[in-house]
Amino acid sequence: MLLEDFVKKKINLKKDKLQYRFLQALEKGSATEIYEDGKKYISFSCNDYLGLSNNPDIKEAAISAIKKYGIGSGSSRLITGNHLLYRVLEKEIASLKKTEDSIVFGSGYLTNIGVISAFMTRKDLIVADKEVHSSIIDGIILSNAKLLRFKHNDLNDCDKLLRNNRESYNNCLILTDSVFSMDGSVAPVKELYQIALKYKSWLLTDEAHSTGVITDKEFNKNQGSEHIQTGTLSKAVGSYGGYVCATKKVTEYLTNYSRPLIYSTALPPSVIAASVASIKFIKNNKNFTLKPLENAVYFTSLLKIKQAVSPIVFIILKDEEKALNASKILKKEGFIVIAIRPPTVTKSSSGLRFTFSALHKKEDIKKLTDIIKKNDWV
Ligand code: PMP
Repeated sequence: MLLEDFVKKKINLKKDKLQYRFLQALEKGSATEIYEDGKKYISFSCNDYLGLSNNPDIKEAAISAIKKYGIGSGSSRLITGNHLLYRVLEKEIASLKKTEDSIVFGSGYLTNIGVISAFMTRKDLIVADKEVHSSIIDGIILSNAKLLRFKHNDLNDCDKLLRNNRESYNNCLILTDSVFSMDGSVAPVKELYQIALKYKSWLLTDEAHSTGVITDKEFNKNQGSEHIQTGTLSKAVGSYGGYVCATKKVTEYLTNYSRPLIYSTALPPSVIAASVASIKFIKNNKNFTLKPLENAVYFTSLLKIKQAVSPIVFIILKDEEKALNASKILKKEGFIVIAIRPPTVTKSSSGLRFTFSALHKKEDIKKLTDIIKKNDWV
């Protein structure tokens, strides 16, 4: 088939299913403001939970690093790109997460594919929650390990899969998000760690949506030496990059075995400097880190729906058309809330995903809930 015919056919397939995607040219203001064609919208679709991407002190840290060190890092970490700021950042992350060590990757996506594929082989078993993030799935595919999936947050199902299958494999890794990126639910991390120990397995939790928000909760904590935490520096930290928190031996292992760390160019020093300033901010402003969840709880209380347990709230509208229409109506009213559709979620779970920032104003949340009620979306 000619390339043009192949892509046309595939694109039309997406259009027929109302799953077509395109890139919108936008301009970002603060954590909650997005501009399109010069018009301002209040966004409930950003992961900049603390507004740190626009914090003046953090921007200043990046600007001074650019002035001093320039833009790009020039090579991968293992060649000459390992700027001394990396070690400063890794110490800050390990101290925030109270782990022995941490190691920084190019992004959260690269971290997940890089860690899972570094540890697992075709002789190993992976037991993963049904709702884990796509970057985890891609890491599993790269690893060639046998994959079994347990029902979302179902400890009994996870235990059963291990009881029936663990013995046939060499090493075993249990995988979960700590806060699930789509519906905002929270994983029973402590209990999953106990299951990991029981079956001589390792636990990996993806902290992308929990680091920097509600820092003191159990699902944010490292449970012990058999626990690896991965995460991103692009959400609450407001910068860019990814990280692993674990023991020193684990980070030493990844330096030697993780391909995205070895074969991709190091982060720009300015981005690392901004992350250092952000992590310090998070450590020193604990009350502020509670605000995204407080705003989500305010939203669910106004709608009289199940109380939010994280800064993400998902309203299921079932089909793609309804989700797209709802998003359009909200946009007319000045709000950006992106419709979530398959393949990101399953066919009957299309809907609206709201993410709350510390910078959202109560009156905007109230106005948003009035529109939701008026349209009977809950
Ligand atoms: N894990 C989860 C749960 C995420 O939501 C995301 C971001 N969408 C990632 C990993 C990837 O992180 P990054 O955007 O830094 O690549």
